[in-house]
Amino acid sequence: MKAAAFAYARPRSPEEAFDLLERPGAKVLAGGQSLIPSLNMRLSTPDLLVDIGALKMLREIRREASALRVGALATHAQVERSADVRKHVPMLAEAARQIAHPAIRNRGTLGGSLALADPAAEYPACAVALDASLVIRGKGGERRVKAGSFFKGLFETDLRPGEMLVAVEVPTGGESVFLELARRHGDYASVGLAAHRSAADLRLSFFAVGARPILAKHAAAAAGTSIAAAQDALARDLDPPADLYHSGATKLHLARVLLGRALAQWNTK
Ligand SMILES: Cc1cc2nc3c(=O)[nH]c(=O)nc-3n(C[C@H](O)[C@H](O)[C@H](O)COP(=O)(O)OP(=O)(O)OC[C@H]3O[C@@H](n4cnc5c(N)ncnc54)[C@H](O)[C@@H]3O)c2cc1C
Repeated sequence: MKAAAFAYARPRSPEEAFDLLERPGAKVLAGGQSLIPSLNMRLSTPDLLVDIGALKMLREIRREASALRVGALATHAQVERSADVRKHVPMLAEAARQIAHPAIRNRGTLGGSLALADPAAEYPACAVALDASLVIRGKGGERRVKAGSFFKGLFETDLRPGEMLVAVEVPTGGESVFLELARRHGDYASVGLAAHRSAADLRLSFFAVGARPILAKHAAAAAGTSIAAAQDALARDLDPPADLYHSGATKLHLARVLLGRALAQWNTK
């Protein structure tokens, strides 16, 4: 199948992009690694593709006072290799390494993955675990939304028509573990866990277990007692639907296995 006809524009400035995005049927094109296949299968039929690839300022990775700011157009490969990401938010670099294959990582972007909000994707779960803020810009100005409120449901986010995700601000500090089980390296995860702990908080963000990343609050509360108690409590947080390969019960079992591994990794440090 081929994509339906569409117009194409490559703005040179954010202002030009926002003008274009006001047009009916306009859609942002970033790395195209999810959008182009969906056009080819006619799952998406936009009238105008606004290719933001020339907005180089959106590629920047920058250290700020207590956060790392990663531009929406930073590719998975860039995130994986960035010395700043590896040093200050290593979870993101580890997650990037697990996304698909080098060809896709060279073009796919952090912002594209977050905006798409695939429930089996790595970055949305990391953003929730790390309590990141998503920086969203539109003609009306800029706003920040915490990752925990950004992901609304299956492929559904807080982005409004005409808006663009421009960056993610990730608080630095704490310790993290990123684990996933997939049928082959590079496949979407069967189940994944992005876990982050700081002096004040333990955040266990599971993915591929529901319509969006799920913070396992009961398991986190029980983790202070024992690993087994946290694993038992996980059934109060997760009720995974079956996927093509696994029943919901198997996915819950796999989530418990990942939780056990993550907590054991910390306990043995
Ligand atoms: C074979 C294959 C395997 C893959 N495996 C994985 C995997 O294991 N894990 C994983 O997480 N992903 C995987 N992906 C998806 C890949 O990571 C995509 O690159 C990513 O999901 C989308 O990023 P993109 O830059 O390509 O966005 P695009 O495809 O260009 O856009 C995706 C969507 O986001 C919107 N969008 C993009 N950027 C912005 C922005 N800045 N502001 C607002 N809206 C925006 C677009 O309008 C579109 O709706 C895989 C893809 C393929 C083809």
